Amino acid sequence: MARPGWAGVNVHDVIVVGMGPAGAIAATELARAGFSVLGLEGKAHPRYKVCGGGLSARIDRLLDPDYRSVIEDTIHRVRFQFAGAEAFEIASPDPIAYMVMRTRFDAFLVQKARDAGAQVCENERVLAVREDAGGVEVETERGRYGARILVGADGANSLVARSLFPGRRGRLWGAVECEVGVQQIPSGLGAGTIVLDIGVVPGGYAWVFPKEARLSVGIAEFHGSGRNPKRSYERFVQGEPVLTGIDVPCGMGHPIPLYGGAAGERMPLTTNRSLLVGDAAHLADPVLGEGIYYAVLSGKMAAACIVDHLRSVTPDLLAYDAQVAGELYPEFRVAARMAWTLYRFPQISHRVIRRRPEILELYAEVLKGRETYRSFYAKAKMGTKDSFAHLLKDACLAAFKS
Ligand SMILES: Cc1cc2nc3c(=O)[nH]c(=O)nc-3n(C[C@H](O)[C@H](O)[C@H](O)COP(=O)(O)OP(=O)(O)OC[C@H]3O[C@@H](n4cnc5c(N)ncnc54)[C@H](O)[C@@H]3O)c2cc1C
Repeated sequence: MARPGWAGVNVHDVIVVGMGPAGAIAATELARAGFSVLGLEGKAHPRYKVCGGGLSARIDRLLDPDYRSVIEDTIHRVRFQFAGAEAFEIASPDPIAYMVMRTRFDAFLVQKARDAGAQVCENERVLAVREDAGGVEVETERGRYGARILVGADGANSLVARSLFPGRRGRLWGAVECEVGVQQIPSGLGAGTIVLDIGVVPGGYAWVFPKEARLSVGIAEFHGSGRNPKRSYERFVQGEPVLTGIDVPCGMGHPIPLYGGAAGERMPLTTNRSLLVGDAAHLADPVLGEGIYYAVLSGKMAAACIVDHLRSVTPDLLAYDAQVAGELYPEFRVAARMAWTLYRFPQISHRVIRRRPEILELYAEVLKGRETYRSFYAKAKMGTKDSFAHLLKDACLAAFKS
């Protein structure tokens, strides 16, 4: 592509900014389709990413099977509790989730992109992006690059989103996490079990996830205004029975860009030459803040749409917007409704689910990819309406009396 002022500028078919899961998958798919791809990553892999590293088992449908070499634990049991108490567990013969360390998982995916033929430059932070009718221009700490298409995969604080999608301002929610080394998984935590607690974080939840020789301990806040994730994290670490006797360090904070509701849906994820994927597109699920699955899925969707466009099958990139609107947003809308109930009425929600553990078992089927949020909700709401209304009435009466 010859453009005025571009003498000596390296021009590619596609530049991907950010090489987390979304960017690495998009780069892999595009390189496999035969396009020249440049991935620009501000850090060097393997790099630490603040994250629980929980992959819902449905990720099996998206990734090549060799990713299993970086799985550290397979989850068959979920312990669901309220403020460290009233715990119960559900078990599943099939995996519900897989645990990875993001250092290894992300480095593995980036290597796959390289193996597919993508050029990846690490330690090369993108400073500015520009788009015009002829293409996109990217300026980094080391140079300038041009491309026909740009993929913004640069995470929750996306520079690409801020620069090329100025009206797109979703809400970021606070989360804190740390990985604590352990000699062995605590005896109070059975093999392949995760802990989810909805009683200790106002408007959110806390977790303990097992890895090979570590535990991921963290909290996420998704609702409410008086947010203080660090304080919630400390409270959880001090009170969680599984962590007794373990020296858990201070956690690190990082935002989670949850699906932004109707306002977010109105704002497109494409321009003439650019797309947003993963966290940059606010595609984290409202119930658990799960973002890796959606980062991989949106990276794949975006790549397929770019391939069609570069092969002149489609005149623009709008098919990506349509696919996200048709497949992901309807799921997130239902998930957002569920999250509202769960985090506004955590104690009642916990009691309802404790009475009806099959609800949690059914939710595990969503994580396995056998139910959707929509099918789950339709089935779960039938059985819970009465219990929920009953418990809500009891709680109101108790509050009125006290
Ligand atoms: C505390 C916490 C716990 C979480 N736990 C889970 C979990 O258990 N399971 C789950 O599914 N999700 C979890 N998430 C969400 C998950 O981490 C994200 O949804 C996921 O990482 C999104 O992937 P991504 O590729 O879009 O972005 P990222 O993984 O954030 O990757 C973006 C990449 O872009 C790079 N970058 C940023 N800016 C630039 C720039 N200007 N130039 C070049 N490179 C740049 C970054 O260095 C990074 O490598 C958690 C999040 C938090 C905060």
